[in-house]
Amino acid sequence: MCITRAKDATIAWDLFLDSINQLNLAKLVPVLKFINNEWGTATRMHKYFNSNPKCPMCDLEENMEHVFSCNSTTAKKTRHEALKLIKRVLSKTIKTSHSGGAL
Ligand SMILES: [Zn+2]
Repeated sequence: MCITRAKDATIAWDLFLDSINQLNLAKLVPVLKFINNEWGTATRMHKYFNSNPKCPMCDLEENMEHVFSCNSTTAKKTRHEALKLIKRVLSKTIKTSHSGGAL
């Protein structure tokens, strides 16, 4: 998986850098693992530790794609709440940047 030049141009790298710089180590590590495609999905843990490769919420194979598409009620609720939080944070960021305040 790589980022094409067309996609690269659509990414707000300065906002991304500001966000990364605000994370403590405990929150930064999972973000860096995700960026480097190293998230500890059940499939990956199975590869290294021979643990159960199934999603704990729906019992299908849990890989990166599944993490973002699991149809369990809990996963859908978690994604919905995460998207609401992202929208709220971005809304505050846009309002702050338009009013000339610091991020
Ligand atoms: Zn699942």
